[in-house]
Amino acid sequence: MKYVLISGGVVSGLGKGVTASSIGVVLKACGLRVTSIKIDPYLNIDAGTMSPFEHGEVFVLDDGGEVDLDLGNYERFLDVTLTKDNNITTGKIYQSVLEKERKGDYLGKTVQVVPHITDAIKDWIQSVAAIPVDGQEGPADVCVIELGGTVGDIESMPFIEALRQLSFSVGPDNFCLIHVSLIPVLGVVGEQKTKPTQHSVRELRALGLTPHLLACRSAEPLLQNTKDKLSQFCHVPVENILNIHDVPNIWHIPLLLKNQNAHLSILQQLNLLEKATSPALQQWTKMAETYDNITDSVRIAMVGKYVGLTDSYLSVIKALLHACVTLSLRPSIDWIAASDLEEDSAESTPDGHATAWETLKRADCVLVPGGFGDRGIKGMMLAAKYAREKKVPYLGICLGMQISVIEFARSVLGLDRANSVEFDAQTPNPVVIFMPEGSRTHMGSTMRLGSRRTLLQTPDCITSKLYGNSAYVDERHRHRYEVNPAVIRTLEEAGLKFVGKDETGNRMEILELPSHPYYVGVQFHPEFKSRPARPSALFLGLILAATGKLEAYLSRHQNGS
Ligand code: GLN
Repeated sequence: MKYVLISGGVVSGLGKGVTASSIGVVLKACGLRVTSIKIDPYLNIDAGTMSPFEHGEVFVLDDGGEVDLDLGNYERFLDVTLTKDNNITTGKIYQSVLEKERKGDYLGKTVQVVPHITDAIKDWIQSVAAIPVDGQEGPADVCVIELGGTVGDIESMPFIEALRQLSFSVGPDNFCLIHVSLIPVLGVVGEQKTKPTQHSVRELRALGLTPHLLACRSAEPLLQNTKDKLSQFCHVPVENILNIHDVPNIWHIPLLLKNQNAHLSILQQLNLLEKATSPALQQWTKMAETYDNITDSVRIAMVGKYVGLTDSYLSVIKALLHACVTLSLRPSIDWIAASDLEEDSAESTPDGHATAWETLKRADCVLVPGGFGDRGIKGMMLAAKYAREKKVPYLGICLGMQISVIEFARSVLGLDRANSVEFDAQTPNPVVIFMPEGSRTHMGSTMRLGSRRTLLQTPDCITSKLYGNSAYVDERHRHRYEVNPAVIRTLEEAGLKFVGKDETGNRMEILELPSHPYYVGVQFHPEFKSRPARPSALFLGLILAATGKLEAYLSRHQNGS
């Protein structure tokens, strides 16, 4: 196994994740099999308990892992399926060491950060790197490890030390360190400043790690003179100084790296030049260039709770992007804070209320994404009602599906107090209820997480056709509540159809409103499996419907063309 470690210096938020995934893309394009590990030096065991407001979205894996959103970037860029163990946190490492300590596995020894925590980190990395993630047998050729945070942080010290030891034990041919740094420009003369990078490389070296390559983030391309200076003071050959300057879209980054021969420097360091082919990146080039030249756009109203931080819905945004690009469109996403649509806000914040409604009415389609808690649910229901009545294409994901069921029960069945027990435990009409897969009394791990199968109930529905007439789909879940099986008949008689169910037939997975051009709700999260060249079927359907092209598309695909 060959390791490529990506560390970061100077400031956080440099796009280390995108850099690391892009390096993976370039290596994969050279014919190598690539896997990846993300290290998050925080104490949480996983991202499941972290607020999307603070940390961005919680990404969900097939195996039910609730992980850092960077793993989503890796899955999308490298087209792999990762496991929860590919995300290492301080919490997980300490948990495993402490469990062993309680079992008495350390045979009376004092358990310490060095060597016990560092050994646990090394073992974890080496065993997870060997798990195949690309559907093929046997371990990958290269494992890209991204170390979260900034070098010098107290939290990441044990990881740096473990990685230093790992680099020593696997030997120089098997370890390549790429340090991502920032080159700011200061003053009227606009000089590119190398000092912060010099300092962070010095910090890294003091910890026993020497970067083989530098990946320098900057607004404008680096000047030769800046590169020469960096090379001299950071002890990195000038051809190993990569520059990631601002580009029109992130799909350019693998191309940028390839054009600077990043692959040659990495392959040489890893002694892989003979094994690798020259990078085939035609598909990326096409995607990056196509997107730059798209002029038409489609307006999507995203009605949610966490609209302040777009990273909270990162995978949804990416899935919209994938669908739009396939149709030569640019997504124009209008964020609407659900609570601004509510009647209360008409009095408290009339301007916000008016703008929210104007924005909703201007949209070509409406998307209500997943979420937890009751904030804004009334507003989401108003958006769902508006889309249903005005025949505006609607996609409700997880919470968005539950919202459409509650709204339908209230407006069409006349059950004014219909609700989810998540929002009103005493509701006389619980249309969304708690249906744990495991114990009802045990509070931990009551979420239904990860890949589950949905059986399509009829070929005669939009979803089935969009999914290529397949009999079933496997999509990822992250929820606690579900549509109450006791109300299905009533809802169906009133026109809402449940066209996808789990294998028992008790769990409702997909709903459609046949009298509507595109009114779809799904209990799962289709966004997590969307890929740049393989957009999620339901997002594609939404955008097709928003642009009036759905019927033509479905009939074309019905005829097998
Ligand atoms: N809060 C809802 C539930 O737990 C929806 C979850 C979600 O949208 N991911 O079922």
